[in-house]
Amino acid sequence: MVLPVVAIIGRPNVGKSTLVNRLAGVNEAIVHDEPGVTRDRTYKPAFWQDRDFLVVDTGGLVFDDDTEFLPLIREQAMAALAEASAAIMVVDGQDGVTNSDEEIATWLRQHSVPVLIAVNKCESPDKGLMQAAEFWSLGLGEPFPVSGIHGNGTGDLLDQLITHLPPISELEELDEIRVAIVGRPNVGKSSLLNAFVGEARAIVSPISGTTRDAIDMVVERDGKRYRLIDTAGIRKKKQVEYGPEFFGINRAFKAIRRANVVLLVIDAVDGVTEQDQKLAGRIAEEGRACVVVVNKWDGVEKDSYTIYDHEQKTRDRLYFVEWAEMIYVSALTGQRVPKILELVDRAAEQHQRRVSTSVINEVLEDAARWHSPPTTRQGRQGRIYYGTQVTSQPPSIALFVNDPKLFGNNYQRYIERKFRESLGFAGTPVRLLWRGKKMREMERGSNRATRV
Ligand code: GDP
Ligand code: GDP
Repeated sequence: MVLPVVAIIGRPNVGKSTLVNRLAGVNEAIVHDEPGVTRDRTYKPAFWQDRDFLVVDTGGLVFDDDTEFLPLIREQAMAALAEASAAIMVVDGQDGVTNSDEEIATWLRQHSVPVLIAVNKCESPDKGLMQAAEFWSLGLGEPFPVSGIHGNGTGDLLDQLITHLPPISELEELDEIRVAIVGRPNVGKSSLLNAFVGEARAIVSPISGTTRDAIDMVVERDGKRYRLIDTAGIRKKKQVEYGPEFFGINRAFKAIRRANVVLLVIDAVDGVTEQDQKLAGRIAEEGRACVVVVNKWDGVEKDSYTIYDHEQKTRDRLYFVEWAEMIYVSALTGQRVPKILELVDRAAEQHQRRVSTSVINEVLEDAARWHSPPTTRQGRQGRIYYGTQVTSQPPSIALFVNDPKLFGNNYQRYIERKFRESLGFAGTPVRLLWRGKKMREMERGSNRATRV
């Protein structure tokens, strides 16, 4: 099961790591190696009553860029907060409220993540209450006096914390791979759905989706759960009279939005049409993983070159999802249908993949060595300071550069190609976010980055 993440946030030296160790009850750093969890940050498993969760220390969060603390740290804290179910802001009860505390609190109030205030270094219970009371002014609710060193107060803090964690049933849902089957009418979506459900066997249940008549179906195979999005939409035309030209594109768009992985079904006989291209465009735009399923392969007369020619042609026309894996199947004969789920698993895995900052920077350095960034006629050259993955689903990598305008489309595509060559990412779109930064700031940023 996916474990909820609790981010520990605060300025340096307030006792974040001490508190993390106290909450997790361990001293050694445990680096998680699971999809959905960034390896740059240290996650420690913790539990309280019946709830398991991961605690992540974000490093000293400081907002004033003129101090020695750098954008990279802030980027990491933001990424940690983005995946957190709750946050604990740690402050120092002996220091009282500082400007940095106020800045951090202001920043946290702009996010929807629930925040608890732990007023650390409150060893004395009586004095602690007084010290803590001062932090009401941060506007984040009741401050909890705690001592990371001695452990007092942490029980009350944890009691409150677990009320903010998502219910276990919701977390189980996060584990499901949400699959949308989309394509024009008559390409064989219902037939594939039946094959899919038949193959997975254990049908858990039809479950209502977000819109009133969107019925999802949850199936299980090898302990993995798949939620087939809007199966009612796939079958609907069987009950309702639609003209032959009717194409429920809005319904397909909605299904794409709710999916992790989209099966784009193409008719092998007809080939790729404009409608298929529209769907492919939307899949890429929404950042969904995709498997291109070319169905009715039994209906195509074959010679030894056909599959290759066919694939080339199909790929060219589906350039929006050129990164997608393709499979040739027949829902009618069942040929290769069981392999579809394998490709879905693979695409889902790549979609939620996290790559460490050090690996990303190795790729960037290598790429720049083969082919340095372009130089303008005035002699200004593009410089990439460093990159770091900021989110997954789809993997999104922020590239900090001197000026994004110095990197033309060709070079940007070259970098994306290098990422794919080195790291794979088959089946998922990858987003590169080119961000300009002031030189002075980044020089220090890159020094820092080497230590992360
Ligand atoms: P971080 O930079 O926020 O992770 O802070 P650390 O956990 O490294 O702690 C900074 C300093 O505060 C260290 O010298 C700790 O020994 C001290 N410290 C941490 N927790 C407590 C506490 O509960 N009480 C007191 N008195 N000192 C603490
Ligand atoms: P949907 O509208 O996309 O759900 O398509 P259906 O699953 O209803 O299939 C449309 C028609 O194509 C039906 O007559 C199916 O029997 C036929 N069909 C589906 N899959 C295949 C296939 O792999 N090969 C052939 N030859 N026909 C197929």
